[in-house]
Amino acid sequence: MDGSDGTAENDPLHAELRCYEGTPAATGGIGKDPVNAPMIRHWCEALGHPVPPDGAAPATMLQVWTMGGLSGHEGRTPGYDDLLGRLDEAGYAAVVATDCEQEYAAPLRPGQRITFDAVVESVSPRKSTKLGAGYFVTTRTEVRADGVLAGTHRFRILKYAPTQATSVRDQAPAPAPARTKSATRPRPVVNSDNAPYWRAIREDRRLLIQRCTGCGALRLPWLPGCNACGSPDWDTVPASGTGTVFSYVVMHHPPFPAFDPPYSVALVELAEGVRLLGNVIGVPYDKVRIGAPVVLDFLDADDDLTVPAFRAVDTEPVPPEPAGTGPADTEPASTVTTPEAEAPA
Ligand code: ZN
Repeated sequence: MDGSDGTAENDPLHAELRCYEGTPAATGGIGKDPVNAPMIRHWCEALGHPVPPDGAAPATMLQVWTMGGLSGHEGRTPGYDDLLGRLDEAGYAAVVATDCEQEYAAPLRPGQRITFDAVVESVSPRKSTKLGAGYFVTTRTEVRADGVLAGTHRFRILKYAPTQATSVRDQAPAPAPARTKSATRPRPVVNSDNAPYWRAIREDRRLLIQRCTGCGALRLPWLPGCNACGSPDWDTVPASGTGTVFSYVVMHHPPFPAFDPPYSVALVELAEGVRLLGNVIGVPYDKVRIGAPVVLDFLDADDDLTVPAFRAVDTEPVPPEPAGTGPADTEPASTVTTPEAEAPA
Protein backbone atom coordinates (compact mmCIF):
# COMPACT_ATOMS: atom_id res chain seq x y z
CA MET A 1 0.00 0.00 0.00
CA ASP A 2 2.95 2.31 0.50
CA GLY A 3 3.22 5.16 -1.92
CA SER A 4 -0.40 5.20 -3.04
CA ASP A 5 -2.92 7.22 -1.12
CA GLY A 6 -6.17 5.48 -0.54
CA THR A 7 -9.60 6.82 -1.31
CA ALA A 8 -12.87 5.79 0.26
CA GLU A 9 -13.41 3.37 -2.63
CA ASN A 10 -10.24 1.34 -2.26
CA ASP A 11 -9.41 2.03 1.38
CA PRO A 12 -11.80 0.18 3.65
CA LEU A 13 -10.11 1.69 6.71
CA HIS A 14 -10.86 5.21 5.50
CA ALA A 15 -14.46 4.25 4.86
CA GLU A 16 -14.65 2.97 8.42
CA LEU A 17 -12.96 6.06 9.88
CA ARG A 18 -15.30 8.40 8.06
CA CYS A 19 -18.18 6.94 10.06
CA TYR A 20 -16.77 8.90 13.01
CA GLU A 21 -17.27 12.23 11.24
CA GLY A 22 -19.85 14.22 13.18
CA THR A 23 -19.33 12.07 16.28
CA PRO A 24 -19.02 14.09 19.49
CA ALA A 25 -15.42 14.28 20.72
CA ALA A 26 -16.42 16.11 23.90
CA THR A 27 -19.90 16.85 25.17
CA GLY A 28 -20.92 19.21 27.92
CA GLY A 29 -17.33 20.26 28.63
CA ILE A 30 -17.04 22.85 31.38
CA GLY A 31 -14.04 25.13 31.77
CA LYS A 32 -12.36 24.41 35.08
CA ASP A 33 -12.17 28.09 35.98
CA PRO A 34 -14.15 31.07 34.82
CA VAL A 35 -12.28 33.53 32.60
CA ASN A 36 -10.02 35.28 35.07
CA ALA A 37 -7.58 38.18 35.33
CA PRO A 38 -4.60 36.27 36.81
CA MET A 39 -4.58 33.77 33.92
CA ILE A 40 -4.84 36.61 31.42
CA ARG A 41 -1.90 38.39 33.07
CA HIS A 42 0.27 35.25 33.25
CA TRP A 43 -0.43 34.42 29.62
CA CYS A 44 0.35 37.97 28.49
CA GLU A 45 3.59 38.05 30.47
CA ALA A 46 4.69 34.66 29.12
CA LEU A 47 4.09 35.76 25.54
CA GLY A 48 5.33 39.33 25.91
CA HIS A 49 1.86 40.59 25.04
CA PRO A 50 0.51 43.77 26.66
CA VAL A 51 -2.36 43.10 29.07
CA PRO A 52 -5.42 44.55 27.31
CA PRO A 53 -6.45 47.73 29.14
CA ASP A 54 -10.14 46.81 29.00
CA GLY A 55 -9.45 43.58 30.94
CA ALA A 56 -10.77 41.30 28.17
CA ALA A 57 -8.81 38.14 27.40
CA PRO A 58 -6.75 38.28 24.17
CA ALA A 59 -8.77 36.37 21.58
CA THR A 60 -5.92 33.93 20.94
CA MET A 61 -6.29 32.66 24.53
CA LEU A 62 -9.46 30.85 23.40
CA GLN A 63 -8.11 27.35 24.02
CA VAL A 64 -6.72 28.25 27.46
CA TRP A 65 -10.18 28.16 29.03
CA THR A 66 -11.02 24.63 27.86
CA MET A 67 -7.75 22.92 28.76
CA GLY A 68 -7.92 20.14 31.30
CA GLY A 69 -4.54 20.69 32.96
CA LEU A 70 -2.70 17.87 34.71
CA SER A 71 -5.91 16.39 36.07
CA GLY A 72 -7.21 15.79 32.57
CA HIS A 73 -10.14 16.70 30.39
CA GLU A 74 -13.75 16.39 31.33
CA GLY A 75 -16.60 15.63 29.01
CA ARG A 76 -14.50 13.60 26.55
CA THR A 77 -16.67 11.03 24.80
CA PRO A 78 -15.68 7.48 23.85
CA GLY A 79 -16.16 8.22 20.13
CA TYR A 80 -12.94 10.14 19.73
CA ASP A 81 -10.93 7.61 21.72
CA ASP A 82 -12.45 4.79 19.63
CA LEU A 83 -11.38 6.55 16.45
CA LEU A 84 -7.81 7.00 17.69
CA GLY A 85 -7.77 3.43 19.00
CA ARG A 86 -8.86 2.13 15.60
CA LEU A 87 -5.96 3.98 13.98
CA ASP A 88 -3.54 2.60 16.58
CA GLU A 89 -4.70 -0.94 15.83
CA ALA A 90 -4.22 -0.41 12.12
CA GLY A 91 -0.59 0.62 12.69
CA TYR A 92 -1.05 4.40 12.61
CA ALA A 93 0.04 4.75 16.21
CA ALA A 94 2.20 7.88 16.04
CA VAL A 95 0.65 11.29 16.37
CA VAL A 96 1.70 14.82 15.59
CA ALA A 97 -0.33 18.00 15.89
CA THR A 98 -0.27 19.73 12.55
CA ASP A 99 -2.36 22.87 12.77
CA CYS A 100 -4.94 24.83 14.64
CA GLU A 101 -7.42 27.35 13.34
CA GLN A 102 -9.57 29.66 15.42
CA GLU A 103 -12.49 31.96 14.75
CA TYR A 104 -13.57 34.53 17.28
CA ALA A 105 -17.19 35.46 17.79
CA ALA A 106 -17.11 37.55 20.97
CA PRO A 107 -14.51 38.80 23.47
CA LEU A 108 -14.10 36.87 26.71
CA ARG A 109 -14.20 38.77 29.99
CA PRO A 110 -13.30 37.83 33.56
CA GLY A 111 -16.12 36.12 35.38
CA GLN A 112 -17.65 34.39 32.35
CA ARG A 113 -18.25 30.65 32.67
CA ILE A 114 -16.94 28.53 29.80
CA THR A 115 -18.67 25.52 28.29
CA PHE A 116 -17.67 23.65 25.15
CA ASP A 117 -18.56 20.82 22.83
CA ALA A 118 -16.35 19.18 20.23
CA VAL A 119 -17.03 16.97 17.24
CA VAL A 120 -14.86 14.95 14.90
CA GLU A 121 -15.20 17.16 11.85
CA SER A 122 -13.29 15.15 9.27
CA VAL A 123 -10.91 12.29 8.64
CA SER A 124 -8.81 12.72 5.50
CA PRO A 125 -8.04 9.99 2.99
CA ARG A 126 -4.74 8.26 3.62
CA LYS A 127 -1.87 10.64 2.82
CA SER A 128 1.83 10.08 2.30
CA THR A 129 3.94 12.51 4.32
CA LYS A 130 7.62 12.80 5.12
CA LEU A 131 6.90 11.35 8.56
CA GLY A 132 5.04 8.40 7.15
CA ALA A 133 1.62 7.58 5.73
CA GLY A 134 -1.42 8.41 7.81
CA TYR A 135 -4.74 10.15 8.25
CA PHE A 136 -5.44 13.75 9.24
CA VAL A 137 -8.12 13.95 11.93
CA THR A 138 -9.76 17.33 12.51
CA THR A 139 -11.85 18.15 15.55
CA ARG A 140 -13.93 21.32 15.93
CA THR A 141 -14.60 22.75 19.37
CA GLU A 142 -17.23 25.42 19.97
CA VAL A 143 -16.49 27.52 23.02
CA ARG A 144 -19.31 29.34 24.77
CA ALA A 145 -19.17 32.04 27.42
CA ASP A 146 -22.25 32.15 29.62
CA GLY A 147 -24.00 30.11 26.96
CA VAL A 148 -23.14 32.37 24.02
CA LEU A 149 -20.73 31.29 21.25
CA ALA A 150 -17.36 32.97 21.86
CA GLY A 151 -15.27 31.15 19.29
CA THR A 152 -14.47 28.03 17.31
CA HIS A 153 -11.27 26.08 17.59
CA ARG A 154 -10.26 23.55 14.92
CA PHE A 155 -7.45 21.22 15.78
CA ARG A 156 -5.84 18.84 13.29
CA ILE A 157 -3.57 15.92 14.04
CA LEU A 158 -1.84 13.40 11.81
CA LYS A 159 -2.09 9.80 12.99
CA TYR A 160 0.64 8.01 11.07
CA ALA A 161 2.81 4.96 10.73
CA PRO A 162 6.39 6.26 11.12
CA THR A 163 8.46 5.64 8.01
CA GLN A 164 11.38 4.15 9.94
CA ALA A 165 9.39 1.98 12.34
CA THR A 166 8.69 -1.02 10.18
CA SER A 167 5.69 -3.06 11.20
CA VAL A 168 7.14 -6.20 9.66
CA ARG A 169 8.85 -7.85 12.59
CA ASP A 170 11.26 -10.08 10.74
CA GLN A 171 12.47 -7.41 8.36
CA ALA A 172 16.12 -6.43 8.71
CA PRO A 173 16.61 -3.33 10.85
CA ALA A 174 16.78 -0.12 8.88
CA PRO A 175 20.37 0.97 8.30
CA ALA A 176 21.56 4.10 10.11
CA PRO A 177 21.17 7.19 7.94
CA ALA A 178 24.24 7.46 5.77
CA ARG A 179 26.34 10.54 6.31
CA THR A 180 27.33 11.20 2.78
CA LYS A 181 28.68 14.37 1.27
CA SER A 182 25.21 15.06 -0.04
CA ALA A 183 23.81 15.18 3.49
CA THR A 184 23.49 18.88 4.17
CA ARG A 185 22.60 20.68 7.33
CA PRO A 186 19.12 22.09 7.67
CA ARG A 187 19.15 25.59 6.20
CA PRO A 188 18.43 28.65 8.32
CA VAL A 189 15.29 30.54 7.41
CA VAL A 190 16.62 33.63 5.67
CA ASN A 191 14.11 36.40 5.11
CA SER A 192 14.08 40.16 4.59
CA ASP A 193 14.34 40.68 8.36
CA ASN A 194 17.57 38.72 8.83
CA ALA A 195 19.26 38.52 5.42
CA PRO A 196 22.03 41.02 6.34
CA TYR A 197 22.86 38.87 9.39
CA TRP A 198 23.48 35.79 7.27
CA ARG A 199 25.25 37.80 4.55
CA ALA A 200 27.76 39.19 7.08
CA ILE A 201 28.46 35.69 8.34
CA ARG A 202 28.88 34.24 4.88
CA GLU A 203 30.74 37.04 3.13
CA ASP A 204 32.66 38.78 5.94
CA ARG A 205 32.77 36.13 8.69
CA ARG A 206 31.37 38.70 11.05
CA LEU A 207 28.60 38.32 13.57
CA LEU A 208 26.41 41.41 13.67
CA ILE A 209 24.22 42.11 16.68
CA GLN A 210 21.13 44.17 16.02
CA ARG A 211 20.89 47.40 18.04
CA CYS A 212 17.72 49.42 18.51
CA THR A 213 18.39 53.04 17.59
CA GLY A 214 15.40 54.05 19.71
CA CYS A 215 16.64 52.79 23.08
CA GLY A 216 20.01 51.14 22.38
CA ALA A 217 18.89 47.62 23.38
CA LEU A 218 20.86 44.85 21.67
CA ARG A 219 19.07 41.87 20.22
CA LEU A 220 19.93 38.48 18.78
CA PRO A 221 18.41 36.74 16.89
CA TRP A 222 17.38 39.58 14.62
CA LEU A 223 13.80 40.78 14.83
CA PRO A 224 11.83 43.41 12.93
CA GLY A 225 11.21 45.47 16.07
CA CYS A 226 12.53 46.17 19.54
CA ASN A 227 11.07 44.15 22.41
CA ALA A 228 12.04 46.89 24.85
CA CYS A 229 10.57 50.00 23.22
CA GLY A 230 8.79 48.79 20.08
CA SER A 231 10.91 50.87 17.70
CA PRO A 232 11.34 49.42 14.19
CA ASP A 233 14.63 51.33 13.68
CA TRP A 234 17.95 49.64 14.15
CA ASP A 235 21.60 49.45 13.24
CA THR A 236 24.21 46.82 14.03
CA VAL A 237 27.31 46.35 16.14
CA PRO A 238 29.85 43.62 15.40
CA ALA A 239 30.18 41.06 18.18
CA SER A 240 33.52 41.24 19.98
CA GLY A 241 33.66 37.47 19.72
CA THR A 242 34.12 36.54 23.35
CA GLY A 243 31.56 34.80 25.50
CA THR A 244 30.85 32.07 28.01
CA VAL A 245 28.79 28.90 27.90
CA PHE A 246 25.44 29.77 29.49
CA SER A 247 23.95 26.30 28.97
CA TYR A 248 24.54 23.31 26.74
CA VAL A 249 23.29 19.90 25.66
CA VAL A 250 25.10 16.90 24.25
CA MET A 251 23.27 15.42 21.29
CA HIS A 252 23.34 11.62 21.13
CA HIS A 253 20.01 10.80 19.57
CA PRO A 254 18.21 11.04 17.22
CA PRO A 255 20.84 10.97 14.47
CA PHE A 256 20.49 13.52 11.68
CA PRO A 257 22.27 13.28 8.37
CA ALA A 258 25.09 15.87 8.25
CA PHE A 259 25.62 15.66 12.01
CA ASP A 260 27.91 13.20 13.68
CA PRO A 261 26.80 12.46 17.26
CA PRO A 262 27.73 12.85 20.00
CA TYR A 263 28.35 16.59 19.80
CA SER A 264 27.67 19.52 22.04
CA VAL A 265 25.46 22.49 21.32
CA ALA A 266 25.74 25.48 23.60
CA LEU A 267 23.78 28.57 24.36
CA VAL A 268 26.58 31.10 24.62
CA GLU A 269 26.28 34.43 26.34
CA LEU A 270 28.33 36.91 24.35
CA ALA A 271 30.28 39.66 26.10
CA GLU A 272 27.61 42.07 24.84
CA GLY A 273 24.96 40.23 26.88
CA VAL A 274 23.00 38.61 24.05
CA ARG A 275 22.90 34.84 23.63
CA LEU A 276 23.39 32.62 20.63
CA LEU A 277 23.21 28.88 19.96
CA GLY A 278 26.08 27.12 18.28
CA ASN A 279 28.30 24.08 18.18
CA VAL A 280 31.25 24.07 20.57
CA ILE A 281 34.37 23.06 18.70
CA GLY A 282 37.96 22.45 19.67
CA VAL A 283 37.04 20.50 22.78
CA PRO A 284 35.64 16.99 23.32
CA TYR A 285 31.85 17.04 23.62
CA ASP A 286 32.00 15.81 27.22
CA LYS A 287 34.35 18.56 28.33
CA VAL A 288 31.98 21.46 27.69
CA ARG A 289 30.97 23.14 30.94
CA ILE A 290 28.69 25.95 31.98
CA GLY A 291 30.74 29.09 32.47
CA ALA A 292 33.55 27.96 30.17
CA PRO A 293 35.01 30.82 28.11
CA VAL A 294 34.65 30.50 24.35
CA VAL A 295 35.48 32.60 21.33
CA LEU A 296 33.44 33.06 18.21
CA ASP A 297 34.45 31.09 15.16
CA PHE A 298 32.75 30.18 11.90
CA LEU A 299 32.05 26.74 10.49
CA ASP A 300 31.80 26.19 6.77
CA ALA A 301 29.19 23.48 7.04
CA ASP A 302 29.08 22.96 3.28
CA ASP A 303 29.62 24.87 0.07
CA ASP A 304 26.68 27.20 0.66
CA LEU A 305 26.41 27.44 4.40
CA THR A 306 28.58 29.13 7.01
CA VAL A 307 27.32 29.16 10.59
CA PRO A 308 28.63 30.74 13.76
CA ALA A 309 30.24 28.31 16.19
CA PHE A 310 32.24 28.61 19.39
CA ARG A 311 35.76 27.49 20.05
CA ALA A 312 36.71 26.53 23.57
CA VAL A 313 39.45 28.78 24.89
CA ASP A 314 41.15 26.30 27.17
CA THR A 315 40.17 22.75 27.99
CA GLU A 316 42.67 21.99 30.73
CA PRO A 317 41.22 22.48 34.19
CA VAL A 318 43.67 24.32 36.41
CA PRO A 319 44.51 22.24 39.50
CA PRO A 320 43.53 23.87 42.75
CA GLU A 321 46.31 25.98 44.14
CA PRO A 322 47.93 24.65 47.31
CA ALA A 323 46.86 26.64 50.35
CA GLY A 324 48.99 29.61 51.22
CA THR A 325 50.78 29.98 47.88
CA GLY A 326 49.11 33.18 46.77
CA PRO A 327 45.98 35.26 46.76
CA ALA A 328 42.92 33.52 45.35
CA ASP A 329 42.12 36.35 42.97
CA THR A 330 45.19 36.07 40.75
CA GLU A 331 44.10 33.17 38.58
CA PRO A 332 45.23 33.37 34.97
CA ALA A 333 42.66 34.76 32.58
CA SER A 334 42.55 31.48 30.68
CA THR A 335 41.28 29.46 33.64
CA VAL A 336 38.20 27.49 32.73
CA THR A 337 35.42 28.14 35.16
CA THR A 338 33.63 24.89 35.80
CA PRO A 339 30.98 25.43 38.46
CA GLU A 340 29.94 21.80 38.83
CA ALA A 341 26.91 22.81 40.85
CA GLU A 342 25.50 24.47 37.74
CA ALA A 343 26.20 21.65 35.34
CA PRO A 344 23.18 19.61 34.27
CA ALA A 345 22.96 16.27 36.07
ZN1 ZN B 1 14.32 49.86 21.66
